[in-house]
Amino acid sequence: MEFKPVIGLEIHVELATQSKMFCGCPAYHFGVEPNTHCCPVCLGLPGALPVPNKKAIEWTIRLGLALNCRILEESKFDRKNYFYPDLPKGYQISQYDQPLCVQGKVILKEGQEIRIRRVHLEEDTGKLLHTEIDGEKCSLVDFNRSGVPLLEVVTEPDFRNSQEVDEFLKDLQRMVRYLGISDADMEKGSLRIEPNISMRENTKPKIQIPNYKVEVKNINSFRFVRKAIEYETKRQTELLEKGETPLQETRGWNEAENKTVSQREKEEAHDYRYFPEPDIPPLNFTPEEIAEIKKQIPELPEEKEKRFIKEFKLSPYQAGLLIETKKLADYYEEALKVNGKIDGRKYSSPSEIANWLINRKIDIKTTSPEKLIKDVIASKEVMLVSEAEMSRIIDEILTENSQAAADYKKGKTAVLGFLIGQVVRKIGSQADRQEITRRLIEKLGVF
Ligand code: ADP
Ligand code: MG
Ligand code: ZN
Repeated sequence: MEFKPVIGLEIHVELATQSKMFCGCPAYHFGVEPNTHCCPVCLGLPGALPVPNKKAIEWTIRLGLALNCRILEESKFDRKNYFYPDLPKGYQISQYDQPLCVQGKVILKEGQEIRIRRVHLEEDTGKLLHTEIDGEKCSLVDFNRSGVPLLEVVTEPDFRNSQEVDEFLKDLQRMVRYLGISDADMEKGSLRIEPNISMRENTKPKIQIPNYKVEVKNINSFRFVRKAIEYETKRQTELLEKGETPLQETRGWNEAENKTVSQREKEEAHDYRYFPEPDIPPLNFTPEEIAEIKKQIPELPEEKEKRFIKEFKLSPYQAGLLIETKKLADYYEEALKVNGKIDGRKYSSPSEIANWLINRKIDIKTTSPEKLIKDVIASKEVMLVSEAEMSRIIDEILTENSQAAADYKKGKTAVLGFLIGQVVRKIGSQADRQEITRRLIEKLGVF
């Protein structure tokens, strides 16, 4: 019997809002002194009331729209009850049966459709630090991250291998950055991935997904996501081939040993005793309000890529590199505008400018679009000295300096430098010294 992977993703994105999800504390927490961005609300003190962050809600809808989701007219927050020391209230405010966005989809390059089940909004937890003080083991908790807006994207189990997952995740990361809602930096933990993996019998119809799954928690690099999927695929296949069914469980990625390890058997939704958050009224959106949010969405990477190919006649390779970040894409278009403005002439094609940017790895932070275009133009002026022209100038110099030429032939090769200098002076500072040297030596040989 053959087995094929079935993979679904749960993705957490920490939003880059100024303030936290339900209080006014700064949401920024990376490298901040512990427990300095806290208040009664995010510390879960009794009687403190949550007030939802409007921007976080709008940003979640932004991503939902970009992922082709339907935005619910009415959504609400719910309490997800569980105990853990980094969760001071004893529950997390999340969304259960009425998330902000549902039923989206994304099409991968090869045409594979990935359905998005939901995009919802919740709050992040605090951070535990397991350490030792005066030789005694202890755990410290930092609540700066507690209550930071956390968006969750849940896909249907539509991925068939780790490459599809990788492509989807990189596209999603780029999209989130284009939308300006998060830095989506995996190292900082603002993008966290949980792949769910099972194996189905190849002979069974595709819609019949296995009745178990293994969730690998909180992976913080694309490479580890790929490795964890590949590891699980192998581990589960081996079990199935022995006639066993893999356990439904939560596992973690062990970086040092390059494998997943069992953490706990998976809890069910009813274990969390979800119920509506009584302190926050339901959220309602009119079609007009949603249209308003839609206007905040800039041209997205995929559309931009297509437009660059069509409008500027770029190759898919060039376009793909230029749209990698919105900053670079904007810079490129700015440079194209400048291109027509220096001396009112267009010296270069969009493709030449693209190559210049790509091949020379231009630092767009330190090189202005004007400087870039001037450099491209200057490089083209070198080429403006035609082969015939260069040949004529070299002949001229050799005639004017016949003594030096004769010396060279007698073996005084040091005069070569002098002759090169003379030619360069005539052609200008942009002259190609290497080409001049090559031609001079060639001519001196037959002089
Ligand atoms: P839970 O309620 O345990 O969180 P869900 O059914 O809500 O489980 O699914 C969570 C994630 O697991 C989703 O991304 C979904 O696509 C994925 N998933 C569900 N069933 C499977 C399966 N059999 N194999 C792989 N992934 C699955
Ligand atoms: Mg889950
Ligand atoms: Zn607070």
